[in-house]
Amino acid sequence: MNNEKTFSIAVMPGDGIGTEIMTPCLEVMAAAIECIGGVQMDFKTIEAGAKCYTKNGDAFPQESKDVALTADAILLGAMGLPTVRYPNGTEIAPQLDLRFDLGLYAGVRPFRAVPGIPSPLSDPRAKDIDFVLIRESTEGLFASHGKGTVENDEVATETLVITRDVSERLFDFSFDLARQRKSKGSMGKVSCIDKANVFMAFAFFRKIFDERATLNTDIDTERAYIDATALNMVRNPLDFDVMVTENMFGDILSDLGAALVGGMGMAPSADIGDKHAVFQPCHGSAPDIMGTGQANPTAMFMSGAMMLDWLGTKHNVSECNRAAELLNAAIDYAYEGGELMPHELGGQSGTTPIAERVLAAFDKIEAA
Ligand code: ATP
Repeated sequence: MNNEKTFSIAVMPGDGIGTEIMTPCLEVMAAAIECIGGVQMDFKTIEAGAKCYTKNGDAFPQESKDVALTADAILLGAMGLPTVRYPNGTEIAPQLDLRFDLGLYAGVRPFRAVPGIPSPLSDPRAKDIDFVLIRESTEGLFASHGKGTVENDEVATETLVITRDVSERLFDFSFDLARQRKSKGSMGKVSCIDKANVFMAFAFFRKIFDERATLNTDIDTERAYIDATALNMVRNPLDFDVMVTENMFGDILSDLGAALVGGMGMAPSADIGDKHAVFQPCHGSAPDIMGTGQANPTAMFMSGAMMLDWLGTKHNVSECNRAAELLNAAIDYAYEGGELMPHELGGQSGTTPIAERVLAAFDKIEAA
């Protein structure tokens, strides 16, 4: 009898380069899992996104939702196309709806320098960048998504929402992550990023952070304003370990973090709630390069590794954690030496050569 644990994974390639990077992602994940053994993934591909809306008049059909909601995890490429819009003019973004519907409050965005990938920072210590931004993903300014008003073509209003319930869970998640990272050698620090000197909502956010900090005294804490943080992420990125912030601030700082480690194609992410989780690269469907073969699939691969690691920890299946480690090691191996250089960084390596190098790295790592 086969006693291997099987996880069901809802796979949503989506639109644009999402579909182009998902196929090799499933290949590299399958290779990592096969090398480690003892666990299986049942990948179920489902339709959702702008193309799906054009075809079916529904961006996230019920049958796709049913698969996504019952899966152990959701793996997503990218969704939305500027040319496909709802009648009110907004873009198709079922990935945003998923965050709200499934309560995925912790948007986890790790930024780690990969050997061989140049940073725009001239400081040689940039090769050691390794921090995680936690972007609250269900409220903040995005609570206003679809609810903003424009009165008489004169005044526009959007409302920012911070709740105690979500903030407490967000901060506890951040302290737990800092603790996990500390056990592997990181500094064990959480930085709360806000604008508490100007807005009541952020003073409240910081107050709740302070309360949770008193329950997590094994972890160092700091409080910083968003503007100073943008400066310090460029000036002293090694000072950060785990950063936690509001939705809109996190949206912006994520792109800054991605730039520090080589661009959108190197920035993975996970949207995690108490029950469900969605794993996807930080970038969008990049319609400007779709169909050219130039998309960098690395952020998608790293998001797959995050999914394996999350499944392993949640279900206590160490084979998944080891497969995640192996996949990250294969990515590093593929880039070491600097022969691979993504188009985004001025090189000539597109989706296929990057995927081939990562796949080939598994054999080399095993043989070593
Ligand atoms: P969204 O709002 O959906 O996040 P966006 O409009 O902000 O999307 P992206 O789709 O993320 O933008 O693309 C931003 C820029 O980065 C584009 O020029 C795009 O070509 C580039 N880009 C994004 N992802 C990749 C990738 N994986 N490989 C190469 N270039 C990428």
